[in-house]
Amino acid sequence: MSEFTERHGIAPCLAAVLAGDDPASHAYVASKAKAAGRVGIRSETFALPADVPAAEYFDLIDTLNRRADVHGILPQLPLPPQIAADAVFARLNPEKDVDGLTPVNMGRLALGRPGIVPCTPLGIIALIDSAGVSPAGGPPGGGLAGHHDLIAGREAVVVGRSNIVGKPVALLLLARHATVTICHSRTPDLAAQTRRADILVAAVGHPHLIRAAMVKPGAVVIDVGLTRVDGKIAGDVDFDAVREVAGAITPMPGGTGPMTIAMVLENTLTAARRQLEHDEA
Ligand code: NAP
Repeated sequence: MSEFTERHGIAPCLAAVLAGDDPASHAYVASKAKAAGRVGIRSETFALPADVPAAEYFDLIDTLNRRADVHGILPQLPLPPQIAADAVFARLNPEKDVDGLTPVNMGRLALGRPGIVPCTPLGIIALIDSAGVSPAGGPPGGGLAGHHDLIAGREAVVVGRSNIVGKPVALLLLARHATVTICHSRTPDLAAQTRRADILVAAVGHPHLIRAAMVKPGAVVIDVGLTRVDGKIAGDVDFDAVREVAGAITPMPGGTGPMTIAMVLENTLTAARRQLEHDEA
């Protein structure tokens, strides 16, 4: 980051826009701001009341779209009912859309063109790739040390088809040459699908939906689900049982959540580079 700041004379800047008092949203934005500070990204947080008129919310988005010193904008979801998320993402400058949720960035992802990719899916791919990096001395069971592509040619099963996680992660896996199956609430025999998966991504929000018997031995299992049960965070995967079967597995909490934050920062830096280098061109 210091190289960026020295070159351009300003730090990359991320602006988060909150509307309402949802404690999880406030905690999430605070942890992004803290992580940004640690790596030299400036952050600004705009906390609006739950009853903010839609016009006022859109005026703030327009102002941030225009400000040359703001490189990334995060409209924090969920939004209060008077503000339609679709309208917010249609209005957001795609070059500042560090969550990659505008129609332009989603379209670029579907077409395989460069753009800003949604953070949680980007983090999931980084986590799968990290499972293919063997430590010095080689992977467990011997073989060569180094980097193994765990995605190309493999069977990937994504459970969940949301615009934020399921669909974009499926597109990223497809772009990396996996054979991809997307499951959802109407999939009749979920276990029959998940048992085929070399890579299994669970993004549902149903605690411990994925049990050991549903997992192929040696699979890479990524848990995205995050549900609060009796004040504790539970994932979609029955971690203690599935870890005995999986080749690699992410914990919940402590896996996809921190990676999502890291990718927000990476996307902010990418967006800032694209904006400033475009200005120089
Ligand atoms: P969402 O929009 O509610 O989508 C959930 C998906 O799961 C839907 O496609 C739904 O199918 C499917 N589903 C529901 N019940 C199912 C079942 N029994 N079997 C198979 N599929 C089922 O959720 P989301 O926004 O993608 O989030 C998913 C989870 O990830 C939530 O717990 C959320 O809190 C968490 N999350 C975590 C992070 C992170 O950083 N770790 C980031 C974002 C979200 P239909 O489409 O048929 O309804």
